[in-house]
Amino acid sequence: MSSWIISQKDFDVQSKKFYESIFALGNGYMGVRGFDEEEIKDAKHEINTFIAGVFDYYMPGKTDMVNTPNFWHTRIFINGERFVPEQGEVLEYNKELNMREGILKRKLIWKNKQGDETLIETTRILSIDSIHNAILSINISPINYSGEIVIETGIDADVWNNVIDDDQLKTSANFCRLLAEDGKAVYSGDIHVIRLKTTETGLRVYEGFSSELRHGGGILKSEKNIVQQEKYVADRFTFSASKSEVYTLNKFISVWTSRDRYVGSLEDQVLQSVKTARDLGVAAMIKNHAAAWERKWEISDIEIVGDGNCQKAIRYNIFQLIQTNAENDPCVNIGARGLMHGRYKGCYFWDTEIFMLPFYIYTNPKAARNLLLYRYHTLKGAEENARRQNLEGARYPWMSAIDGLDQCDTWDIGLSEVHITADIAYAINHYYEATNDIEFMRDFGLEILIQTSRYWKSRFTYDSRKDRYNLLFVKGPNEYGGVVNNNLFTVMMAVHNMQLAKKFIKKIKECYSEAYQLLSEKLNFKEDEVRQWDEIIGKVVINYDKDKSLYLEDDNILNLEPLDLSGVKEGDQPLYRKICYDRLQRYRVLKQADVILLMLLFPDKFNNKEKLAAWNYYEPITAHDSSLSYGTHAAFAARLNLLEEAYKYFKKSVCLDLDNIMQNTQAEGIHFAALGASWQAVVNGFCGVELEKGNLKINPRIPKQWEKISFKMYYHQCLLKVSASSKSVAVTYEGGEADGLQIIVANQPVSLSKGKEEIISLDAQEEFYAD
Ligand code: BGC
Repeated sequence: MSSWIISQKDFDVQSKKFYESIFALGNGYMGVRGFDEEEIKDAKHEINTFIAGVFDYYMPGKTDMVNTPNFWHTRIFINGERFVPEQGEVLEYNKELNMREGILKRKLIWKNKQGDETLIETTRILSIDSIHNAILSINISPINYSGEIVIETGIDADVWNNVIDDDQLKTSANFCRLLAEDGKAVYSGDIHVIRLKTTETGLRVYEGFSSELRHGGGILKSEKNIVQQEKYVADRFTFSASKSEVYTLNKFISVWTSRDRYVGSLEDQVLQSVKTARDLGVAAMIKNHAAAWERKWEISDIEIVGDGNCQKAIRYNIFQLIQTNAENDPCVNIGARGLMHGRYKGCYFWDTEIFMLPFYIYTNPKAARNLLLYRYHTLKGAEENARRQNLEGARYPWMSAIDGLDQCDTWDIGLSEVHITADIAYAINHYYEATNDIEFMRDFGLEILIQTSRYWKSRFTYDSRKDRYNLLFVKGPNEYGGVVNNNLFTVMMAVHNMQLAKKFIKKIKECYSEAYQLLSEKLNFKEDEVRQWDEIIGKVVINYDKDKSLYLEDDNILNLEPLDLSGVKEGDQPLYRKICYDRLQRYRVLKQADVILLMLLFPDKFNNKEKLAAWNYYEPITAHDSSLSYGTHAAFAARLNLLEEAYKYFKKSVCLDLDNIMQNTQAEGIHFAALGASWQAVVNGFCGVELEKGNLKINPRIPKQWEKISFKMYYHQCLLKVSASSKSVAVTYEGGEADGLQIIVANQPVSLSKGKEEIISLDAQEEFYAD
């Protein structure tokens, strides 16, 4: 069981912010940092509750993810003294997140200044079974006294966004704050509903709750008052508590916005939703929620035998990936810090498509489809970005929010880190190859591919002296590299983007000629455009040192000043904290994986000699100053059979937040791309899951620390179970419509039939990578 539990055993004011990040809960619809119910609002804490898709403008054209009301808010008074853990003595403390069931619990004994000792236990969930509901339950029991206890619990809507200093946004003193739609909360059938709206986007956010105080199996007859202030409503219970008795406060919360589908009025919807939860009761709500988590784990869990730390950490990564994704909403995506922190103003980056999406593609294809549909729904914004840059087609923004217009303010990153457009094209194809969802390609994917290819066509510059097409002034994934010419990653991804457009034009034209015709008319697409793409594809600039079999990151890399990283890098602290970006860009040092990531994305385009040359050249000069880097290095090293290196990098990636590797989890929340990169390091890296032209290959090479690893994955709508040790790999086709499946395991063709386990020996493993 311990591999399912993340716990904090000691209460310590200094580590509060860190644990607030670690214990964040979410259910895709909303996310709440792990602050405690009684937390006092001050600059030290980010009392953040975010709802997917709820953004507002803080200045024209620029949005922030809006901090919404704090519905956990509870004040407890013991014989007149307010319960604030640090203002008394914490005699016992244990806070734990049960990842298997998605429940956060805290148990502590608090001694106030008068010497009264009270046992306080809190339990909370954000239901994944009923996504509009949150449940809070608090047990209070006097240990050494009988006396008066007051519990005031309500919704505190007097919240605002923290101003976040951000290297990719201009610092702005403006912040978003919800407006009260109507000063007074509604009160009906013992349920309060508070009604708010965003200032500029005009979204309505309605939240309701009902609370009850119980004792000895029934409702406790106590004095109950309603506290009503501007943007605040609460129930206040005052009662005489007897020594050793347990009193329970239950709170049923519901959150809806005008983005949701509902029948009747929003207010009635909230009232009804609170009532339904209350009628079910705390135990049933928690039971349904835990059962929904069980169903998630049934597909998504990774079991690692022999390595307890990695086992727990990978579960934490998966837990966060599941709980922050709005799996049924095609109009939102996943922010770089999920719904758990306001860093980057909730914006969506390439972090989703390149780092997180594979997890969803293989464990929840419908969720992956919805994430890609978000890109389809923001295609208009992408077209507008291209137009604003005097280009054609569609350029996806570096930072995206409600409409696909670029939210990034810095010209060097926002306007130059253009690879994201091709990353999205790559992801669309990845989804297709893993699912065979041709309807998605017909209805959405092809349009994106054509529009993005048009963008690339207009973004390359022809050099008539050399008869070449240069990709000038772009920034690759290595953000320390400056704005460069012919960044290999961007060039090859752009080429792939255009090749994909060609591939799917052919396919859709063949399979759905009418749909193809309609799309061509809509886009005014002429097939002569393909010829122009071909012309560019054949003449791009790829910097390659043939003698060394080394692919060069860009035109510039060899001109840079060498830097001995061991002399400047202190632990895992990022270099940008002590060396400015201008200086950094003149050193031959990488912020994060660039060529190595490219080789991981296109395993078949490079041979092992080239991969090894890239590893030997780039790995020693990579600072890993982005959380995206460790997982990529782990996966790549595993593919090269450098298992010790791979394991070392994997530990950094999978424990990035739990061990606070970057020293910023407290200030920035959870790093979602690293979660996805860790999952890929296991499945694609160590377990060698790869698609070659849509065909599944599995070729595990697991670290010596692991006895066995098992996981499940969807492939072409069939569910497979894979278990690997250093000696053999077993694959079972567990469920799906296909009669049988042909895959490649450890370089051998394997036919899978339903329910039958195929075991393949890995004895000849070393040979696979001899090249
Ligand atoms: C990284 C980017 C990443 C962004 C958001 C930056 O520090 O360099 O690659 O997309 O953070 O996670």
